[in-house]
Amino acid sequence: MPWFKRVEKGIHTPTEEKKETPDGLWYKCPECKAVISMAEHRKNLNTCVKCDYHDRIGSEEYFAILFDDNKFTELDGNLTSGDPLNFVDSKPYPQRIAATEKKTGLKDAVRTAYGKMNGQNITIACMDFAFIGGSMGSVVGEKISRAIDHARETRTPFMMISKSGGARMMEAGFSLMQMAKTSAKLALLSEERLPYISLLTDPTTGGVTASYAMLGDFNIAEPGALIGFAGPRVIRETIGKDLPKDFQSAEFVLEHGFLDFIVDRKALKQKLTDLLEMVMPKETPKSEKPKKLRATSKAS
Ligand SMILES: [Zn+2]
Repeated sequence: MPWFKRVEKGIHTPTEEKKETPDGLWYKCPECKAVISMAEHRKNLNTCVKCDYHDRIGSEEYFAILFDDNKFTELDGNLTSGDPLNFVDSKPYPQRIAATEKKTGLKDAVRTAYGKMNGQNITIACMDFAFIGGSMGSVVGEKISRAIDHARETRTPFMMISKSGGARMMEAGFSLMQMAKTSAKLALLSEERLPYISLLTDPTTGGVTASYAMLGDFNIAEPGALIGFAGPRVIRETIGKDLPKDFQSAEFVLEHGFLDFIVDRKALKQKLTDLLEMVMPKETPKSEKPKKLRATSKAS
């Protein structure tokens, strides 16, 4: 009898006894379909080892990449959203917030922190797409504004990592006000002559693009990131024309003059450090100054 013929009938394995590969052990690149181990993918900072596709990551990963030894102090970690409009869609807004908090372990769609990056002090705000599509509500606007205030008070450069579908519908007008608020705070930062670096990651759209994401002294992006205001489908339907290939990709946006450069995630930390070294005023330790002056006067 061939071995592959089932002799016994009605064999049944309960689901809990079925053997399966544990979830999250392998990563399949959506771009080139290469399959690599999750550990290797993480080691490569969540970029594809084969084609360099940049996978979406959140504030936890960006802070780990940028802050030295992953050491940082979080600002306003407990700020959560109210429900100013008593908004109900498929469920009431407070319920949606509570469910998202539970699912993601995040309080809202941005986290702000300060610490050292290659020894240089920096304040960073980083958005999380996992929290209601990285939507910008009043908490996002307030936390970014306070982080900018912190940068001004401590005279540190400010960096914003954007990843957002735009304004948060459930807060309607309150969301839109955050565009003006954050832009005004950035103007104050600029008056203090402190650098602002804006990193646009996949995707950066809507009110976020239309406010703080595009106001950097340096607007930079990750390769392949979708950057735009309205989505391509909306634009196509409005103008009734087909859009160019790669429309709204970081590369397209760079070519059309809206970005300063595109940076690979693996080179991000060093590139930012080099950039800030060029623009931040050098601090000379006080004790060294008079010595040098005396030495110069003797020599002359
Ligand atoms: Zn790939």
